Amino acid sequence: MIYFMNGQFTDQEGCTISIDDRGYYFGDGVYEVVKVYNGELYTAEEHFNRLVESAEKVKMVLPYSKEELIGIASELVKANQIETGHIYIQATRGVSPRTHQFPEIPVTPVVTAYAINNPRPLKNIEEGVRVKIVDDVRWLRCDIKSLNLLGNVLAKQEAFEAGCAEALFVRDGIVMEGSSSNVFGIKNGTVYTHPATNLILNGITRRVVMKLCEELAIPFVEKEFTPIEALSMDEFFLTSTTAEITPIVSIDGHPIGNGQPGTVTKQLQEAFARQIPVPVKAN
Ligand code: PMP
Repeated sequence: MIYFMNGQFTDQEGCTISIDDRGYYFGDGVYEVVKVYNGELYTAEEHFNRLVESAEKVKMVLPYSKEELIGIASELVKANQIETGHIYIQATRGVSPRTHQFPEIPVTPVVTAYAINNPRPLKNIEEGVRVKIVDDVRWLRCDIKSLNLLGNVLAKQEAFEAGCAEALFVRDGIVMEGSSSNVFGIKNGTVYTHPATNLILNGITRRVVMKLCEELAIPFVEKEFTPIEALSMDEFFLTSTTAEITPIVSIDGHPIGNGQPGTVTKQLQEAFARQIPVPVKAN
């Protein structure tokens, strides 16, 4: 496997991280995951724009432009012969003796990345998944795709231990998002999701779903809803770069609708599948 580490394409042995890396001490950094379909980066502009925005929000200056970052990601896809998979890229604030405040002498962020083959999760996409409600105890800047994921990690683990694929974060009586996904309810044909505030990550797949709803003339509303309202939705689904559009068939053991993936969800899944790069058929 070929990795990217500070300007070099190298094997794993070539990747050495300093004990003084602020990513290691504080989770002081930002990251992105970009899907690869048929050897092509999907919605790369949107992902790398968000990476630059996340960096700006934590007052980090990335050592590469958005175009250079897309170039690095494309190189990794090619070098690792990725057909269907994803790239992971992160930037930490850099290497400096441990103090909470930024290093007095500016250091260059450490950028690392890899590309991996990873099939589409078709079983979950077709059959749906169960979710568990978990208290959202994260900080108030969930709009930043930060390396600090302890709140998300603990929530996902709690969901897994309950036999669920995802945690449904609830803060102050409002459904927010998943631990690594955005969530949507459908009632009487209208799709509802939490507004893109500081309390959720504005997912790239979420934005794709908004666009697909517009194209399919499916009403879409960014509006808060409660867990009780969630349980009375006709359909429910989650989105993420790797999970795409995955139906949610039960919340805390209560079936949603008839406990099967819903028709509007399926319509959106089909529209999603139509717009991802597919292999070119031979004549
Ligand atoms: N919310 C959180 C907390 C996430 O970690 C993710 C996955 N990155 C998402 C939402 C979905 O974002 P995207 O569609 O850009 O993968």
